[in-house]
Amino acid sequence: MGRPLADNNESPHSDGEGDSNLQPAPIMYSESRGDTKMNRVGVVSVEADQVTKVYSVGHVNYPALRGVSLKIERGELTSIIGPSGSGKSTLLNIIGALDRPTSGHVRIDGVDIRKLSDNQLAKIRNRKIGFIYQSFNLINRLTAVENVEMPLIARKIPRNLRRDGATKLLSAVGLAQKAHKRPTELSGGEQQRVAVARALVTKPAIVIADEPTGNLDSKTTRELLNYITEVNRTMGTTFVIVTHNPEVSERTHRVISIRDGMIEKEQRLQRIDSFAK
Ligand code: ADP
Ligand code: MG
Repeated sequence: MGRPLADNNESPHSDGEGDSNLQPAPIMYSESRGDTKMNRVGVVSVEADQVTKVYSVGHVNYPALRGVSLKIERGELTSIIGPSGSGKSTLLNIIGALDRPTSGHVRIDGVDIRKLSDNQLAKIRNRKIGFIYQSFNLINRLTAVENVEMPLIARKIPRNLRRDGATKLLSAVGLAQKAHKRPTELSGGEQQRVAVARALVTKPAIVIADEPTGNLDSKTTRELLNYITEVNRTMGTTFVIVTHNPEVSERTHRVISIRDGMIEKEQRLQRIDSFAK
């Protein structure tokens, strides 16, 4: 059930604020994303309803989430902040269909993930969600372009289309010249851009990122943010980003603060850009 890949439509260009070496180059998405009502502001992308998560280790239970409810709309760029151990990664993993809640409901594009089998959960992840991690999680024995291709293998996309799609996305993050380098031959910023390309190559509705700038210097952090903002603005991709860095959260639409497994407060900083008129 693959959607067409790599239509390579013209994408709107940036307003010029981006750094020159991270051009918001043509992104490979098509206008219509087929199976979803993408790009419609006001449509809920992720909904958590009284979500709890209890980790059991031996006979001891650790309540990591204690009743979290939130709605994230399509096209929102949301950050989640909070002290270490407050439950940010746990929440992100549940939003990203990597894990199920202990109680409560999580709907991703309207589908309640608690009722899904492991297989169905994996399908949702592969079809709808892109992941970016602090430590990049690239495979060192593969080249940059091979790393970006990985999610397309899971989708059984034919080899030539895979390579084509991965190459275009690497160009879009400014790494066309480094496609055949291995992660160990790339800087931290470049590795994270490969990871961003890998997260976006399936045209996911939602990208979740756990401290994506945690290993980057401030210039590279800004460049990455410019790119994420551009993808969000032009494509309407929903981003949920866990971060410690105020420079990151300040550039999101909405900041959710978590403490002790609960939402402590929420701040709306910007409205969603009206890319979807
Ligand atoms: P954060 O990302 O905000 O630092 P986490 O979501 O990783 O917080 O963790 C929340 C709480 O759950 C912490 O007390 C942590 O020790 C605990 N926790 C997280 N993952 C597990 C696990 N797999 N097993 C047991 N406890 C866990
Ligand atoms: Mg964490």
